[in-house]
Amino acid sequence: MTSTPPPTCDPTSLIRPEVRRLRAYHVEAPDPARIRAKLDANESPFALGDHVRTELAAELATALADVELHRYPDPQAQELRRLLAADLGVSAEQVLATNGSDEGIQILLQAVAGPDTAVAIPVPTFAMYELGARVHGLRVVAVPLDAAFDLDLAAFRAALRAERPRLVFLAWPNNPTARLYGREAVETIVRACGGGDCGALVVVDEAYVHYSGQSVLDRLAEYPHLVVLRTLSKVGLAGIRLGMIIAQPAVLAELNKVRLPYNVNALSQAAARVVLRHPGVVRQHAATIVRERDRVLAALQRMAGLTVFPSGANFILMRVNGPGGSGGPGGSGGSGEAVWRALLAQGVLVRNFSRAPHLAECLRVTIGTPEENDLFLQALGAVLAAGG
Ligand code: PMP
Repeated sequence: MTSTPPPTCDPTSLIRPEVRRLRAYHVEAPDPARIRAKLDANESPFALGDHVRTELAAELATALADVELHRYPDPQAQELRRLLAADLGVSAEQVLATNGSDEGIQILLQAVAGPDTAVAIPVPTFAMYELGARVHGLRVVAVPLDAAFDLDLAAFRAALRAERPRLVFLAWPNNPTARLYGREAVETIVRACGGGDCGALVVVDEAYVHYSGQSVLDRLAEYPHLVVLRTLSKVGLAGIRLGMIIAQPAVLAELNKVRLPYNVNALSQAAARVVLRHPGVVRQHAATIVRERDRVLAALQRMAGLTVFPSGANFILMRVNGPGGSGGPGGSGGSGEAVWRALLAQGVLVRNFSRAPHLAECLRVTIGTPEENDLFLQALGAVLAAGG
């Protein structure tokens, strides 16, 4: 007897169409054995644990060994939040610890998501704002930055009035452009969202604050709709996934309902607690990276064939100028893609944005150790010379 085959159905058809239309957040992952300088992900090149071969490494090992892995972590991450708050100069009620600031972005989007709700962002910017918004069925109001990747204040304010977003994301400095908008421009947008004809939560994402030295944290008391995002990912702890949302207690109390229980695992809480007791280490590494950034920036500015954008972060955006002078493909060093491949062939991994909207022929390099930066500059110089 032949059995009837089960009815076939495409299970992916059950996924929401807006999710099916998306492309997952993509990170190139070439064979690590081929990479001599990993300069693609805006991490710190300094491993806090083994770089500071002393107290901190020993303390970390002890703290991690003491974690009770058969127990759930502290659900409110109380000790960690107390340390974070002390470091930031705010109260523990103003800090929500998250699984990377990516989770902070997701919590904010989830908290406002609803029919015909809009989120406004300048573009280009960090991809997770738009990706997350679309996953939550939110409408994305994308306001282009100007040709120098600075905020177009008139366009942004017009968009706020016309579209009435409930949430606004400003990465300050921005990623991947590295541009540090003027403080006054950021505050103008914060003010414009503060009720009246708009009324939006404004998220100032300060992921790169250690390299910009600029923050709006001191404005929290003045603007109840202001939310600041921070992360430890850019200062040597990307692997533990620890971010934070800083806002007024009333806003955080609402966001806390959206957060998953135990969102920051016990090992991450323990590692962060140790590192937060050694703020000097983070500061020292950040100072080295800022010095290196300025050195790399100056060297890039001397190279023909590139347009280099200013940076307030631990990375630099550059456009590879093609033979026509405007980034068109051609010649071995004549396009972003070709230069990216040639660098990779020499073991130097940078981030390729050459085909991303608004970023034609652009590459982004993260500042590494002085040796990695030399390797990158040498390799890029040779690639551009060969193509020129
Ligand atoms: N915000 C910005 C502006 C970023 O560039 C990044 C990392 N690429 C993040 C947030 C996410 O960082 P985290 O590792 O804390 O999730």
